[in-house]
Amino acid sequence: MKRPNILYIMADDHAANAISCYGSRLASVFQTPNMDRLAEEGVRLSHFFSTNSICTPARATIMTGQYGHINGVRTIGDTWCPEAGPNLALLLQQAGYETAMIGKWHLQCEPVGFDDYKYMCNCHEQGTYQDPVFTEKGFGDVPYTGYVTDIITDMALTWLHRRRGSAKPFFMMFHHKAPHDFWEYAERHEHMFDGVDIPWPDSLFEDRSHRSEASRDYGSSVTPRSKIRSLYADFCKPNYVTGPLTGTEGMSFEEKGIAAYQKYLKDYLRTVAGIDDAIGAVMKELESQGILDDTIIIYTSDQGMYLGEHDYQDKRWSYEEGLMSPFLVRYPKEIEAGTVADALMDNTDIAPTLLDYAGVDAPEAMQGFSQRGMLAGKPDAPKKDAIYFRYWMHLAHKHHNPAHYGIRTDRWKLIFYYGLPLDAVGAVDEESPAGWELYDMQNDPFELKNLYDDPAYADTIRDLRNQLDALKTKLGDTDDKYPELVERRKQSGG
Ligand code: CA
Repeated sequence: MKRPNILYIMADDHAANAISCYGSRLASVFQTPNMDRLAEEGVRLSHFFSTNSICTPARATIMTGQYGHINGVRTIGDTWCPEAGPNLALLLQQAGYETAMIGKWHLQCEPVGFDDYKYMCNCHEQGTYQDPVFTEKGFGDVPYTGYVTDIITDMALTWLHRRRGSAKPFFMMFHHKAPHDFWEYAERHEHMFDGVDIPWPDSLFEDRSHRSEASRDYGSSVTPRSKIRSLYADFCKPNYVTGPLTGTEGMSFEEKGIAAYQKYLKDYLRTVAGIDDAIGAVMKELESQGILDDTIIIYTSDQGMYLGEHDYQDKRWSYEEGLMSPFLVRYPKEIEAGTVADALMDNTDIAPTLLDYAGVDAPEAMQGFSQRGMLAGKPDAPKKDAIYFRYWMHLAHKHHNPAHYGIRTDRWKLIFYYGLPLDAVGAVDEESPAGWELYDMQNDPFELKNLYDDPAYADTIRDLRNQLDALKTKLGDTDDKYPELVERRKQSGG
């Protein structure tokens, strides 16, 4: 049997809540018909997680099937060495796939294992929405004119068109810059929200008194929340909103918060609309070549994003909206149309899964496993008991998210904020309070009630902590390397 093509489409900071088939509060005002088509004709995952909710480390994990403490990329400032361990692209290339990387790379190295590449950016840069520069194999830096999502899409279409009729299967990474911060959108989406009010989450004005001291007053906010230690607390300069917020004179605190939220969401969603157009365009090209059903199409994001939930901007926190990413797979040859899978999967599983589709054994050094059977709905497919997650970049980038790690099972989430920079590149060299939080994901899916201090959950906490430590040992991320961390856990009763 001919091996399938693999089209891996990834956005940067795309929250599942901003895809209409995920059915969030936003689905009534914002539709993503092409993403929805992938779900209607394939599988939609409701529990797919990034193990470190930040860009570059997530990308290194996708390429290696390994956690950052193993592949060396725990922070945005770390450099991935593609020759040092497993490399998904190289393995597929060696197996006879024609490989291409098109769009945002964001790993601090040249792409290795790709027959062709046109990428932005390494060297810690994010690239620009307008008139971006791409580094192209054989040509070096090439300037383009126009809107980034459309340029990346044209590049992908051209590459697909040129290889039309090739006997080899292909693996293309088609990576968008959108909807990464300081949103700029295509002119055609300027008026899509005229006269529309975007529904806001109940937690936009959440009282965080249930939280541990470790998280309560940290993080960058959307509203001008006075208690948040955010440099962006001035609502006139919310971090990720394009242009100033006007017409807010005389508004109450709540009204100002909602006005800031409206601008934040409208700018963000307009950039997502551009990606939805891109998906439609590449599907049309595959259809015209008669290879749509021979191609596994994946749509995902490097991690999630807060769209005002808990009054947060950005990602980094391990609450659900940041830890969870969308994950849609269309492959009608083995995935039933319109299925929803609630099994746990994380980004260490991507490389082993894609290798499985290509008939390549995953290297032992990969820490995830193939979820191909789960995606196909096979009841006996191996299942993950829990996701281990960790954020290293303590208080970095003026977003003020404390460093933490934890575990997420199908029912519970246990988070330990250790509040120390340790040796992480870019971490701020100061301590924040240590603390634990427990959430019941079944009865409190929006994480509005931290249960950690409720004695009724003592047994649950003990069991989860044992499971967390067993997972840390299995994955090679134990605390003993850091005596100050061991001490903090001891002091915090853990
Ligand atoms: Ca990202």
